[in-house]
Amino acid sequence: MKFRLFNARTSVLVKSKMAFGWCINPYNGCYHGCRYCFGMCTTGKNYKQWRRVEVRKNLIERLREDICKLKKSEEFWLIRDIFLGAITDSYQPIEKRDNQTRQVIEVLIENELPFTVITKSDLVLRDIDLFKGYKMVQGWCYNNISR
Ligand code: SF4
Repeated sequence: MKFRLFNARTSVLVKSKMAFGWCINPYNGCYHGCRYCFGMCTTGKNYKQWRRVEVRKNLIERLREDICKLKKSEEFWLIRDIFLGAITDSYQPIEKRDNQTRQVIEVLIENELPFTVITKSDLVLRDIDLFKGYKMVQGWCYNNISR
């Protein structure tokens, strides 16, 4: 599995241009490489580039800054849901090594923000301890759809 580390210069908690509303993509690209993935079209990457995952070294730091800024605006109180993995799978194989998604979830819970996780990976079960007892989480799993 190939991946690239980089520092994010822009916000990581963003309003999606699609129907997702607020979202965080813990990774850029996705190693699963499903043939039907719209992520390749929206990012202009080819199949090989899409599977070469990019990891933001400063993701958590950026997320904390974004939340801090948002808290100063009315928009913060209007957030109904944050999608984790609108254009990536938050629990793709690299998550086992990097724990980026887990750390994002910890920050969201700390700030009492609602979120939805979309994944096709059973690695999501690793974080069940975080979801238990937290009322503002939903999960979508589609691991029965073939590549
Ligand atoms: S798991 Fe989701 S983000 Fe990843 S390649 Fe498949 S459709 Fe795209």
